[in-house]
Amino acid sequence: AIAISGLVKLFGDHRALGGVDLTVRRGEKVVICGPSGSGKSTLIRCINALERLDGGRIVVNGIELTADEGTVQDIRQEVGMVFQHFNLFPHLTALENCMLAPQLNRGLSRAQAAKLAMAHLERVHLADQAHKYPSRLSGGQQQRVAIARALCMEPRILLFDEPTSALDPEMVNEVLGVMEDLATGGVTMLCVTHEMGFARRVADRCVFMDRGAIVEEGGSREFFDAPASERLRGFLAQIL
Ligand code: ATP
Ligand code: MG
Repeated sequence: AIAISGLVKLFGDHRALGGVDLTVRRGEKVVICGPSGSGKSTLIRCINALERLDGGRIVVNGIELTADEGTVQDIRQEVGMVFQHFNLFPHLTALENCMLAPQLNRGLSRAQAAKLAMAHLERVHLADQAHKYPSRLSGGQQQRVAIARALCMEPRILLFDEPTSALDPEMVNEVLGVMEDLATGGVTMLCVTHEMGFARRVADRCVFMDRGAIVEEGGSREFFDAPASERLRGFLAQIL
């Protein structure tokens, strides 16, 4: 579970997050949407300790995030993250990309890490591409490698930040399909996306952010079919 309360994040004198409260229960799938600059990435990055907090609290599976390097490492054991721009290591093959963290952070042997990596590449339907370098893979394949890499840490929480928005349209569905498969397992999922079909099918709850605040949240049905706020109505009208 993720419990966020009163979260404030400043960049200079700009309030990127102005006191955000959000709880994601264990196993819950939550989608975040909102206009550019509304603070979606900043929120996700704070959960994984990629940003320092300026106020408020974040508790992840009972671990409170503090500046202490130990708790940062503990939280990163619980949380896997997938970025918009896949961030694969270009000098490592798909398999090696997946093997790295389990060896460095979980103490697996090379052989154990290879076995685990292969199993997760199979799960994203890429076993046959395991020995290719990222530059030889399509965008959709690279993003699926990035998902497999996150899974190799066996996190109980997965964070996605617009995982399909850098992809050519024909590759979006293969990535969303993998994410949908994952969602049917017990993993807790917090996903920034504007893929509203995915949100309707997968999300237990949708959250709309604007100007560093959560403006509206609700079950995916009422969120899309009966948005309460003018701002969400306007946003949905633009993207649908
Ligand atoms: P997008 O949909 O474009 O990805 P977003 O909702 O993810 O937008 P954020 O990236 O979280 O928005 O940014 C929120 C605000 O904080 C923006 O005004 C942005 O310019 C600012 N910001 C984000 N990161 C930094 C940074 N490292 N330094 C300064 N300002 C930043
Ligand atoms: Mg963003």
